[in-house]
Amino acid sequence: MNKQRILTGDRPTGKLHLGHYVGSIANRLRLQDEYECFFIIADLHMLTTKQTKQDIAEAPQNIRDLVLDQLAAGIDPNKVTFYVQSAVKEIYQLNLIFEMLVTVPRLSRLPSIKEMARAARLEEEQIPFGLLGYPVLQAGDILLPRAHLVPVGKDNEAHVEITREIARRFNHLYGEVFPIPEVLVPDVGTLPGTDGQAKMSKSLNNAIFLSDDAATVEQKVRSMYTDPNRIRADIPGRVEGNPVFIYHDIFNPNKEEVEDLKTRYRQGRVGDVEVKRKLAAAINAFLDPIRERRRQYESQPGFVEDVILTGNRRMRAVARETIAMVEDAMGLTYFRD
Ligand code: ATP
Ligand code: MG
Repeated sequence: MNKQRILTGDRPTGKLHLGHYVGSIANRLRLQDEYECFFIIADLHMLTTKQTKQDIAEAPQNIRDLVLDQLAAGIDPNKVTFYVQSAVKEIYQLNLIFEMLVTVPRLSRLPSIKEMARAARLEEEQIPFGLLGYPVLQAGDILLPRAHLVPVGKDNEAHVEITREIARRFNHLYGEVFPIPEVLVPDVGTLPGTDGQAKMSKSLNNAIFLSDDAATVEQKVRSMYTDPNRIRADIPGRVEGNPVFIYHDIFNPNKEEVEDLKTRYRQGRVGDVEVKRKLAAAINAFLDPIRERRRQYESQPGFVEDVILTGNRRMRAVARETIAMVEDAMGLTYFRD
């Protein structure tokens, strides 16, 4: 009955797309039965690079979208605790304690911090203290529910290493409180964008969203990047690295159809129109059950909000337990009434 725990999650910065599905949601669907799952909606992490009142005002809708996208994708609200990071105040406490257990050079050396700064168009001297501390806050996220397993993208692997170091350091100084969490990086590659860029990303405007309707998918697939050297249907085309065929391989369960299209494409015996029409049909067939679940959840007003509020409450109970264990272990228990 005592399942191991998972902590994973997302910043509430927009809707989920097929890249998120392939890179993280598919994994979550697989793991939700086996583990006790905590899915954080990391709004405090968003503040490291987006902290205007306008940014914060957009968070609630993004949070609803993020949870609804996952429920529609098949995440079971009875199995998973969804919670909003800022609603569980114990994270602020754990963050401060953890800040003492890691050095500044250890954090400044991380390439990911510089990358995040670059992505947010910040010069070195504009990097906020909190951005440097991003991996420390993340250690708090992971260790607040005392998680054993952390499914993350490749870019986050180094951060989980910091979490492991902090957990070891804490346990060494004060006694065993935390498991040393394992990282789980999916072995699937990055899904390219519809424009042929290496990564599907909402900021690059090359994404197909889980919430796109059938006509939108058809239109996006029609305008997809393919082999640029193939200016006519009777010119042999390149299948390898061609996003249209990468998508076919992932989303079209009819392997015979895919192999036939690839063969004819290589021989210059099929037009892009047919390849794309069949791809759009496959993606729409993949999205149809997601659309159906979305309709069901949307027909119950307040359902998503309820999932979040229930999750917040559940996570708060776990967090209080952890903080009590931490303060006991540290002897940080004096002058309390
Ligand atoms: P976006 O890049 O669309 O703005 P984001 O910045 O919110 O999305 P990331 O931090 O890039 O999201 O990724 C969140 C998770 O989703 C990570 O686990 C990442 O590996 C996965 N992911 C995102 N985009 C892709 C993709 N194109 N292919 C595979 N996995 C992806
Ligand atoms: Mg991104």
